[in-house]
This record gives sequence, structure tokens and C-alpha cells, in this order.
Amino acid sequence: MFEACDRLVREFEVVIERPVKEPSAVYYTGVDLGTACVVLAVLDEHFRPVAGAFRYADVVRDGMVVDYIGAIRIVRELKEELEEKLGAELIYAAAAIPPGTDGLDSGAIKNVVQGAGFEITALPDEPTAANAVLNIKNGAVVDIGGGTTGISILKDGKVVYVADEPTGGTHFSLVISGAYKMDFSEAERYKRDEANHAELLPVLKPVIEKVASIINRHVAGRDVDGIYLVGGTCCLNGIEDIIQKKTGIPTYKPQNPMFVTPLGIARTC
Ligand code: ATP
Repeated sequence: MFEACDRLVREFEVVIERPVKEPSAVYYTGVDLGTACVVLAVLDEHFRPVAGAFRYADVVRDGMVVDYIGAIRIVRELKEELEEKLGAELIYAAAAIPPGTDGLDSGAIKNVVQGAGFEITALPDEPTAANAVLNIKNGAVVDIGGGTTGISILKDGKVVYVADEPTGGTHFSLVISGAYKMDFSEAERYKRDEANHAELLPVLKPVIEKVASIINRHVAGRDVDGIYLVGGTCCLNGIEDIIQKKTGIPTYKPQNPMFVTPLGIARTC
């Protein structure tokens, strides 16, 4: 179901390691400013991934830019790093605003991207950006990121309902930190290692069920027949089964849900 999306993400994972140096008439950069992670995805004139970079950072909280200068610095450094790797200047960028925060913080996000030296060409909301890659007509896109879970309901390809609730991967790491007596950053690293996922799933089940109950609350009465998972926290193997069981709604996830939104942002550029 996600063949095109999975192909795009696979190509992106490759170019993060090995950028494509063939010249392009124009480059489109997607800037995803997240609670846990800042991601830049670069597409060429044919919308193929050619380079990418990401950095874990603490510059955004609950969709709000809380460290404006730090955010500009990180985006600028990642931009310069990618320009050096590509041997080309990156001019155009799109960024996205978390669901439910438009009007509130879109100015700050725009200013960060411009402050880092980009010309901003689009500022879609995150679910619309994710759907530029997923291409879903009807259903709920659930974005479980670092700080929040965003629920966006689509009808005929258009976002008709959005909600963003403050539970995400950070809470998963806090649970691991408590259960394993690790400090937070050690718990983060432990969680991101796929080799630990089978062992962690029962430990994380209660917090995953909490996310599922948040989803249930927002989809109730809204005629949702499919849940589509994106966001870094959905990289956790088995999260989709628990969510499907608890919501009773068929739940799907692409191979690497973490890079769907950044690639979608670049597509809207
Ligand atoms: P938000 O959407 O809340 O603003 P964000 O955009 O920074 O946050 P993402 O980049 O989508 O969020 O996801 C970051 C979260 O995903 C972090 O909590 C991180 O620990 C988690 N994560 C990343 N990779 C993995 C992995 N392989 N397994 C489990 N969790 C992961």
C-alpha cells in the first residue's frame, strides 16, 4: 500500500549517507522543525531525494519554537553541511506547521527558515505535507513525534479535522528511564535501537495504549476506517499492532515513518 512512499524513504535513507552529486536545475528543501529532531530533506528538479541530514535538538516544544536562535543555528549548519556535500547552493525551502498551531507559531517557523538563509516557498500544515507522500484519500494520519501525537482526519484527500496532544516519544523514553534506571539520554538511545524493540514493547504497552486512547477520543463518531502512522516514535516495531487492537481500526505504517513528513514538506516546496 505504501510502495511509492517506501521507495522514496529508502532512497532518502541512502542519500543521507551518500548524497547524489549530479547537477540539478533547482533543489527543493523540506525543513521539519520537530520537538526531538530537526530534519532537512533535499529533492532535485524531478522531486527525487538527493541529500538529507538530521540532528536531535531541543529547540521546539509542543509545536512552539522555544529556542529561536538555536533553531536558526541548527538549520543553517545543516544547510551548509548539505550545500558542501552537494556542491550547490540550496535556495528554496518549505517548512510545516504542526496541526492546530497555525496562526500561533507559523511566523516563528517561517522566520527560522528564512533566518537560516532560505527563501521560503510553502508553509503547509504537517498532515497535508505527510499526505503529499502517503497519498491517502480517507482516514486518520497519526503523527507520533517526540513531544506530541497529532491526529488529522482526511476526507477526499483534504484535512477536515486536526488535534495535537502532548504525548509522544519523550514519554516513551521517560518510561524506559524509570523501568531500567537509565538517565534520559541513555533511555533515548536504548529505545532507538531496533534490537531492543521486542523487549521494550511490553514495557511501553501502557504508554502506547494511552496514545491509542487519545486517538480513540478524536476519531470517535468521525467515520475513520484506517489509521496511517507517521513520526519517529512509530519506528518502534509492534506499535501498530497495539494501536490497531486498542482502536479496532485497521492500522498501517510505512517502512520508515520518521522521514515521511520531511519528504512531504520538500514535495510541497
Ligand atoms: P514532534 O512531532 O512532537 O514535534 P519530532 O518532529 O521531533 O517531534 P519525530 O522526528 O517524528 O518527532 O520523532 C522523534 C521521536 O521519535 C523521538 O522521541 C525519538 O526518540 C523517536 N524515534 C526515532 N527513531 C526511533 C526508533 N528507531 N525507534 C523508536 N523511537 C524512535
